Amino acid sequence: MNRRDEIAANLAAVRERIAAACAAVQRHPDEITMIAVTKTYPASDVLHLAALGVREVGENRDQEAAGKAAEVRAAGADVRWHFVGQLQRNKARSVASYADLVHSVDRPALAAALAEAAAKVRDRPLDVLIQVNLDPTAPEVSDPLHRGGVSPGSVAALAELIGKDEALRLRGVMAVAPVNDDAGAAFARLAAVAAGLRADHPNATVVSAGMSGDLEEAIAHGATHVRVGTALLGKRALLG
Ligand SMILES: *Cc1c(COP(=O)(O)O)cnc(C)c1O
Repeated sequence: MNRRDEIAANLAAVRERIAAACAAVQRHPDEITMIAVTKTYPASDVLHLAALGVREVGENRDQEAAGKAAEVRAAGADVRWHFVGQLQRNKARSVASYADLVHSVDRPALAAALAEAAAKVRDRPLDVLIQVNLDPTAPEVSDPLHRGGVSPGSVAALAELIGKDEALRLRGVMAVAPVNDDAGAAFARLAAVAAGLRADHPNATVVSAGMSGDLEEAIAHGATHVRVGTALLGKRALLG
């Protein structure tokens, strides 16, 4: 099978899974935006996905994403870029120049850096999500091994900061299910955090949750965006 056909078959299978997960909880597949996470895969795969109708693409490292976004743009494909990885402040300017939605804002200093960058390099505000750490045993952000995200109790304060900044637009929350936990229980906690956030920020309607292994649980608990890599493109050779 050539690569295009392989991706097309994987895409059909993922769309089936999303449809079945929606049917199981009386949701409509139109409520779910699938983001193809293309990290470690070449721009040519993004072009295959675009030709197959996928418009939302995710990356987790600026160095890789910046070049890929430029290549895809040069090839004339129209996709929206989601930045889903841990982000250092010194990459804010680069990410703000190509990303449509940054999923991984997890501290005030990063929000400030993105706001400053967005004001300089964009002609409209940058959409952002607050990444929530769903692991109740997790150390705080300063620990280099943490999987990212603010604790649920810190979301409101960070949201208030972001909400005051005209260069940013707070759109919702994102999370990764903890490795040693039941994904459904974790995503239920995220749904509660998302509902609390919407009470103060009515436009923060995005719930980015669910990956190849747990998108059903995420959809059952209100995800609006799922981030799918492996199930579309195959097992990554490198840790990504
Ligand atoms: C890699 C990645 C994904 C996709 O994971 P798969 O298990 O390959 O579907 C989703 N979200 C984030 C933040 C990622 O880094």
